[in-house]
Amino acid sequence: MRFDILTIFPKAFESYFNESMIKRAKAKKIIDIHVHDIRTFSKDKHKKVDHIPYGGGPGMVMTPQPIYDAIKYVKKFNKGPVLLMSPSGETFTHKKAQKLAKNKGLIFICGRYEGIDERVKKLCVDEEISIGEYVLTGGEMPAMVILDAVSRFIPEFLGKEKSLEEESFSESLEGKKEYPQYTRPPSFKGLKVPEVLQSGHHGKIKEWRKKHLS
Ligand code: SAH
Repeated sequence: MRFDILTIFPKAFESYFNESMIKRAKAKKIIDIHVHDIRTFSKDKHKKVDHIPYGGGPGMVMTPQPIYDAIKYVKKFNKGPVLLMSPSGETFTHKKAQKLAKNKGLIFICGRYEGIDERVKKLCVDEEISIGEYVLTGGEMPAMVILDAVSRFIPEFLGKEKSLEEESFSESLEGKKEYPQYTRPPSFKGLKVPEVLQSGHHGKIKEWRKKHLS
């Protein structure tokens, strides 16, 4: 799956995308991530990407031209929907991640300041997505959150040993969250791992886990 991310802070993605599962999936070509600096598309002689809002008020608004041109450019390589990170969008969920994972690609627009000019939304945004009811300073973390959650639904992403079936929010848990997890040591600060989990009795373990879904 191909992800294109439009941002004015491309470096914000470097550390997260170069660790652990995302790093591995990139190396195995399961996902392909392209981060684009919106500023490089600006036709302004000082490469400006923002301006004061019409009608007055605090803060700055991202101008339409650089974002519009950046989207036009990435659309040559990515036919997926254009997602605008926005606190006023539809709230992102497990189900939404699953649905988005069916696309061959996704294009993310990360806003900054007071957000982006309304005309970009009208011209080229397919969906506005929020990651929760709070306001962040930019859309970079929302893009990382969505990319991460969507990637977990790509069949090869988690590898054979890990199943999505028994995870929190999955249909098989019928709205419940995962059971408690324990690892070594068997006793820590006086708290013991439940006997049944150490018993090797698969049937009983299954039963215990079912009972302890939250
Ligand atoms: N003035 C806006 C907030 C802008 S925050 C308002 O009142 O709604 C700047 C940018 O951060 C937004 O354009 C968006 O891209 C991103 N952002 C902030 N909070 C977000 C959230 N909860 N979900 C997704 N994106 C968010």
